[in-house]
Amino acid sequence: MPASPPASPAQPLSAPQKALRKLGLVRDIDLALHLPLRYEDETRIVKLRDARDGDAVQIEGEVTHQEITFRPRRQLLVSVHDGSDTVVLRFFNFYPSQQKQMAVGTRIRARGELRGGFAGLTMMHPAVRAAGGALPQALTPVYSTVAQLPQPYLRKAVLAGLAQADLSETVPPEVLTEMGRQRLWGLREALTFLHQPTPGVALTQLQDHSHPAWQRLKAEELLAQQLSQLEARRAREHLRAPVLRAARGGLVEQLLAALPFQLTGAQRRVSEEIARDLGREQPMHRLLQGDVGSGKTVVAALAACAAIDAGWQCALMAPTEILAEQHFAKLVEWLEPMLAPRGQRVAWLTGSQKKKVRGEMLAAVESGAAALVIGTHAVIQAQVRFQKLGLAIIDEQHRFGVEQRLALRQKLSESEREPHLLMMSATPIPRTLAMSYYADLDISTLDELPPGRTPVVTKLVAAHRRDEVIERIRAQTAQGRQVYWVCPLIEESEALDLRNATETHAELSAALSPHAPPLRGSLPPEGAAPVLGRPGDGDKPGVMIGLLHSRMPPAEKKAVMALFTAGDMPVLVSTTVIEVGVDVPNASLMVIEHAERFGLSQLHQLRGRVGRGAAASACVLLYEAPEGGRLGETARARLKAMVETNDGFEIARRDLDIRGPGEFLGARQSGAALLRFADLAEDSALLQWARGAAARMLVEYPALAAQHLARWLGSKSEYMKA
Ligand code: ADP
Ligand code: MG
Repeated sequence: MPASPPASPAQPLSAPQKALRKLGLVRDIDLALHLPLRYEDETRIVKLRDARDGDAVQIEGEVTHQEITFRPRRQLLVSVHDGSDTVVLRFFNFYPSQQKQMAVGTRIRARGELRGGFAGLTMMHPAVRAAGGALPQALTPVYSTVAQLPQPYLRKAVLAGLAQADLSETVPPEVLTEMGRQRLWGLREALTFLHQPTPGVALTQLQDHSHPAWQRLKAEELLAQQLSQLEARRAREHLRAPVLRAARGGLVEQLLAALPFQLTGAQRRVSEEIARDLGREQPMHRLLQGDVGSGKTVVAALAACAAIDAGWQCALMAPTEILAEQHFAKLVEWLEPMLAPRGQRVAWLTGSQKKKVRGEMLAAVESGAAALVIGTHAVIQAQVRFQKLGLAIIDEQHRFGVEQRLALRQKLSESEREPHLLMMSATPIPRTLAMSYYADLDISTLDELPPGRTPVVTKLVAAHRRDEVIERIRAQTAQGRQVYWVCPLIEESEALDLRNATETHAELSAALSPHAPPLRGSLPPEGAAPVLGRPGDGDKPGVMIGLLHSRMPPAEKKAVMALFTAGDMPVLVSTTVIEVGVDVPNASLMVIEHAERFGLSQLHQLRGRVGRGAAASACVLLYEAPEGGRLGETARARLKAMVETNDGFEIARRDLDIRGPGEFLGARQSGAALLRFADLAEDSALLQWARGAAARMLVEYPALAAQHLARWLGSKSEYMKA
C-alpha cells in the first residue's frame, strides 16, 4: 500500500475559504452544484443606436467629456461616444482611479442598463474596463455569494470544482427516459453548460430556468429530495411500535355510542385509516389535516380510546394553554365516565400549575392511572415519565419544532419501540407541498364539515366605518349571540399590542353600555379598563366585555375564557391568543381589526372561530390603508381571498402563491432550503417523475440512489429525517 501523504500542518483558513465553508461549498461537487443566480452578457458589443431603453448592454467608445457635478448630489458624469450615439455614465460613488481610467480621449468598455430619457441616454454605475481585448466566448455567470467572497474568486473555485468533481450519472437511462423529454441532457453536459453557457443562447431561457439544462438539474434536485424522504420512511419501517387494537365492546364503541352526534363520513374514513395504522407493528407517522371546525378532536379521542383499550397510554399536546384546556374539558366530558369505573383518569399538565397538583399528575402518569395525558409543552419535560406511552397526538403540529416532536416520540422508555404519532393541523398542506416536503408522512384529510353549519359571510369594512360595526355588535348581543373582537398584531411591540387591545376594550365597554350615548366617532380611551366590565359595576351597567391577551396570568385567562364559553360574557376582546382551537358555538360574529396585518391562514383560522353553530355567522375584516396610501398588493390579495372563499384548501393554495413554501414548512425550513432550483408550482411534472424515479431507484438501484443522495445532500441529509 502506498504511504499516505504526510498530514499537512493545519493552516488557518483564508477569509474566502471560510466564506466558502459557510456557504456549504466544501466538496468539489458542492461547488459544481452551486449554479449561477443569473448571467451577464459580455460576449457582444452593441451599438447605442441599436439598443433600446432598459436593455442590459455592453458598449465600447471614446470618452468625450468628464465632469463632477454637485446637483442634485455629488456625481461623476462621463460622456462616451461610440460612433453611433453618445451615452452619459453616472457614478454617485467613485474613486480618483476611476476618473483616471475614464479620462477624456481614452477608449473604454461599459456594461450596464441603458436608460433613454429626455436628457439623452444614460447608464447608472456601469461596469467599466479598458477597451480592446478579446470578448469572452460565454455568458458570464453571477453566483450568489457573501461579502468576503468576491465573484472572481468564487468563479475560479466553481470551475475548479466542476473540473475535479465526480459527475458520473447516478440516474440510470431507463429511469431518465421516463421523464418523457425530447432530448435529455447528461449531468456533466448540463452543469458545464450552466456554468459556461455557449454564446448565442437565449439569456431569458437561462434566467427563467426553462432551458433543458436547468430541467435536468431540477430533476436531479427533486429526485434527491424524494429519495431522502423515502429513505426516512423506510428507516421508520424498521422501527417497532406497540400494536393498538380497540377491544370489542371497549372504549371506542362506548364513545361512539355516547357522542351526541353521528360521525361525518370523512371522520369515519380517517378514523379507519388511523385505526389501521395503530393496529400495525410499525409506528404511525400520520398527519390529520382538516379545516377549522371539521371535527379533528373527536377523531383524536377515538384514537386515544383505541390506545387505552389496548392497555397503553396516550398523550395529547397542544401549543397553547387555552387550547390544551379546551381539549382537556372536552375529553374529560367524553372519556371520564368510561374511564372512572376502570380506575383510570385524564391527567392535565401545564407549566402554570401548582406544585402539589403537578406532583399528583406526574404520579398518575408514571403509575399508568392517567390513561390520557393532556397538556402543553409541559408534557415533554424530563420529569414526565409515562408508564407505557403508546400514542402521541400533537395538535397544531406546525407550531411545534422538530425537537419537540422527537422528544415526545422518545417518551416510550423501551429502547426498541416508539409510540405511534398522530399530528393534526388546520392548515391544509397544498398538494405539491404534500408530495414534496411531506412525502415521508401519511396524510388523512377531513374534507367535510359536520352538518348544519351555515357558511360564514365575510365582509371588508374600511376602518372609518368602525361605528357601524359596533352597532352591529350591539344588535348581535341583544339577540343573545356572542362576539369576538381580535386586535391587530403589532410586530414591533408587544406593549403596543396590549395598549391597543385595552383601548378597544374600553371603547366597546363604553359604547355597549345601555346608557351610552349614540356613537359619534370613536370614543377616547379612558385609561386602563378593568379586565372584566361586570354587569352592575359602578355606573357602567350592561354587557360584560372580556379582555384576553398573551401577558395575562394563566388563571386570569382561564377565568375569562370560562365566562365566555359559558355564555355569560357576550363580547371578548383579544389579541391573537384565541387563534387556535377555541370552540364556542354560540359566537356568531368575528371582528378582526387591522385585518391587513394578518397572514392569510391566520385570518382563516380566526374566522373559523365562528360559524360553529346553526346561527348565520359573519366575519368583519376591518382594514386601514397606511396613511395617505393604499393597501399593499399582498394585503389586498389576502383580503380578497378571504371574501371569495371559505374553503381551507383554496385558502392554503392562495397562501402558497402569496408567500411561497418557506412559511408553510415552519420547523421543516431547514429541509426547505434544499430546493434551490426547482419551483414546486412550475415543476410539478418533474416532481411527479421524481416520485416514481425515487421509488424505483431504491428498489432496483440502491447503490446509485445512495450515491445520488450523498452527492446532493452531503451532510444535510440528517435534517430530512426528523
Ligand atoms: P377542529 O377540527 O377545528 O379541531 P373540533 O374538533 O373543535 O374542530 O370540532 C368543532 C365542533 O364540531 C365541536 O363543537 C365538535 O364537538 C363538533 N363536531 C365534531 N364532529 C361533529 C359531527 N360529526 N357532528 C356534529 N358536530 C360535530
Ligand atoms: Mg382543534
